[in-house]
Amino acid sequence: MTDFTPTERTQVHRLPKRGVYDREAVYRILDEGLVCHVGFVADGKPLVIPTGYGRKGDMLYVHGSPGSRMLRALGKGADVCITVTLVDGLVLARSAFHHSMNYRSVVIFGKATMLEDPAAKREALRVFTEHVAPGRWQEVRQPSEKELQATTVLAIPLEEVSAKVRTGPPIDDEKDYALPVWAGVLPLKLTPQPPLPDDRLPKEIAVPEYVRGYTRKRR
Ligand SMILES: Cc1cc2nc3c(=O)[nH]c(=O)nc-3n(C[C@H](O)[C@H](O)[C@H](O)COP(=O)(O)OP(=O)(O)OC[C@H]3O[C@@H](n4cnc5c(N)ncnc54)[C@H](O)[C@@H]3O)c2cc1C
Repeated sequence: MTDFTPTERTQVHRLPKRGVYDREAVYRILDEGLVCHVGFVADGKPLVIPTGYGRKGDMLYVHGSPGSRMLRALGKGADVCITVTLVDGLVLARSAFHHSMNYRSVVIFGKATMLEDPAAKREALRVFTEHVAPGRWQEVRQPSEKELQATTVLAIPLEEVSAKVRTGPPIDDEKDYALPVWAGVLPLKLTPQPPLPDDRLPKEIAVPEYVRGYTRKRR
């Protein structure tokens, strides 16, 4: 698996030490994330739209209604910039200036391709569903032909990609270490709460293992 090569667009300039181009590391971030933000220009105006996604190999998939402005613009070949952000902690420094966050984030540049082949669309929807809840696809009713037609699926190749990662404690000005102010990191984590069965669920259907043991850590 070859690493990403920084391009003019993906070279991290601000704090370049935090730039990551290791493909495995980037994919671990993408696989842990749930939501991406899709940036594009439609009718001459910039827009950033949050949405779900899935990844298989070197391809990212987004999907939705054919009426979605985002999917229509991307399907016509608009340039796209997609970000995924994981917040790992609040970095509380002794000065307001040096507050920060610990994070892992990914920026992707490219152009999307609209999937037309029903088998390819179905596979992308499987990838999307398994990204959200691994184990779900094999249990649920599969999409009908009509549902497939009513779903636009776009594939974005993972070619021009960067990640940026901040870890560790606050970095204060030397003189500020003497201040009587609590400083450190407040770790944050996305943690599932107890599942809430649907009101119309027959009592005998148990909560599946992949729901009971749900975690975003994939590897
Ligand atoms: C949760 C979170 C909170 C942040 N808070 C702040 C803040 O308050 N103020 C602030 O200035 N910055 C913050 N950042 C960092 C911010 O994302 C940018 O990296 C930073 O502002 C520099 O922007 P730039 O356009 O000058 O980057 P440049 O280094 O010029 O960007 C060049 C290229 O580097 C890559 N790149 C830059 N940033 C990222 C990134 N975060 N993830 C992946 N690739 C990247 C992209 O490919 C980009 O095109 C935060 C990041 C995260 C994830």
